[in-house]
Amino acid sequence: MITDVVVRDAPPKGKGVFALRSFRKGEFIFRRRHGRVVSPRQEAQLSAEDGRHLTELDFDRSAVLLPPGCYLNHSCEPNAMRSGVKVFAWRALRKGEEITIDYRLNAFSDVRSRCRCGSRNCAGIVQWSFFALDPKRQRRYLPYAPDFIRRDYRRRARPPV
Ligand SMILES: [Zn+2]
Repeated sequence: MITDVVVRDAPPKGKGVFALRSFRKGEFIFRRRHGRVVSPRQEAQLSAEDGRHLTELDFDRSAVLLPPGCYLNHSCEPNAMRSGVKVFAWRALRKGEEITIDYRLNAFSDVRSRCRCGSRNCAGIVQWSFFALDPKRQRRYLPYAPDFIRRDYRRRARPPV
């Protein structure tokens, strides 16, 4: 059972996930569980709600996220990180703080859209791709990124022959 976080309104983003206690840097917070796994073709058949709560598992598979993890919002300066389904504190968290992760960890889209995270380093319009992150942040995130992102990172890093 998940008892250390709660889903609350987080205007203007909709709902968000909030800490019910403080967390030390690096401490496990909760599991962001996966529901149904779909191909890009099957995504069109999902309900609007499920379609809003997808996470990329690979280049051709996404999972529908289950509550409360599906309400984790993005931040360009997140206070949490995840590795697979495990969400942990990226820095110390205060009780009552909204928990945020960086959606770009496992994303590879060409799509740019408006970001409402409000963090100081937010560019306002964000490209939803790991490979659009600045190189320093890519290196910081890489150990937590899924295998398919790590493989692509290595492929891109190889000098052209
Ligand atoms: Zn942002």
